[in-house]
Amino acid sequence: MKIKEVIQHIEHKFPLHWQEDFDNSGIQCGDKERTVTGVMVCFDMSEKVLDEAIAKNCNMVIAHHPLIYRADLKRIEPNNRIGKILFKAIENKLFLYSMHTNIDSGIGGGNDLFSEKLGLTDVKVLSPKKDMFKKLVVYVPFEQSNQLKEKLFEAGAGQIGKYEQCSYNVEGYGTFLPLEGSQPAIGNVGKIEEVKEERVEMIFPAHLQSRIVKTVYTNHPYEEPAFDIFKLENEDRSIGLGRIGVLPEPMEVADFLQFAKERLQLKVIKYSGKIDRKIRTVAVCGGGGSSYIKAALQANADIYVTGDLKYHDFFIPENKMILADIGHFEGENFIREIIYNEVSKNFTNFASYISEQEKLEIHFI
Ligand SMILES: [Zn+2]
Repeated sequence: MKIKEVIQHIEHKFPLHWQEDFDNSGIQCGDKERTVTGVMVCFDMSEKVLDEAIAKNCNMVIAHHPLIYRADLKRIEPNNRIGKILFKAIENKLFLYSMHTNIDSGIGGGNDLFSEKLGLTDVKVLSPKKDMFKKLVVYVPFEQSNQLKEKLFEAGAGQIGKYEQCSYNVEGYGTFLPLEGSQPAIGNVGKIEEVKEERVEMIFPAHLQSRIVKTVYTNHPYEEPAFDIFKLENEDRSIGLGRIGVLPEPMEVADFLQFAKERLQLKVIKYSGKIDRKIRTVAVCGGGGSSYIKAALQANADIYVTGDLKYHDFFIPENKMILADIGHFEGENFIREIIYNEVSKNFTNFASYISEQEKLEIHFI
């Protein structure tokens, strides 16, 4: 089995278009045409993890964090951390791959598991993802509109949440004057035409744009179909960073913090704020979630549990919510389990491992 087949499976479950704009999930280096010998899952790529992969005959390493992250990587030399890892990978024919914000945001991904570990119910996305949808408006002769709609639905247009084949249609008439050299499906060259048409509107996932446009050109009867594509401000409420949910029973702040420590195996929690109520609504965001403090406040969370907060972040809630920093690694390390389960349950013709050598290198005394 080729590496690209493993990629195909994981990208079907956690598509790359779910990642944030700043991110670089996906292939970091390597040849996806090679046969996969084994998969090593880790949190961060390191020389230690690569050595372990080599020792266990794994030529595919899947990490949560991308190794190549910022666009400022201009040269690869083995005199810095990233260069050394890339060198080792290429010299040993390893394939490096990352599942970062696409798995953070996705259904069944990191933030869903975070919520599950805290026993939250009625879980919703804290910061629904934007720029996921576009709208097609196409004008089609009345008689052919159903046929075109069917093809567009097949191509993935017209899906809103748990509803499919959604469209809005209004009757009107179109006019056109075929010029010399044109081959009009209706009417004649040099004669103005008026046709009863339908204006069909449909929402579609932005990443399917080329397929949708191709479907219009292939199935519309006109030589020059008239259509518009609009950018939408709509959010995808099922995808995005952070989650918010409720505890089955409200808990005192101190009890909840203790509970979170046990559930997430934490050594320490840094927190701020004082509220005169029990914790019922809990917002979470694995990794560094300082950007969503306001979203958690607006959603009336009693506590927001995240990582990587700066000193001044702790003052933002002004006692309207408890703000807790559990650490970056601590709120995300279980993503390794998701990746491992996804690969090991679906592929049995090679071995998969979670790195045993990788340990949190930040210490508490
Ligand atoms: Zn992270």
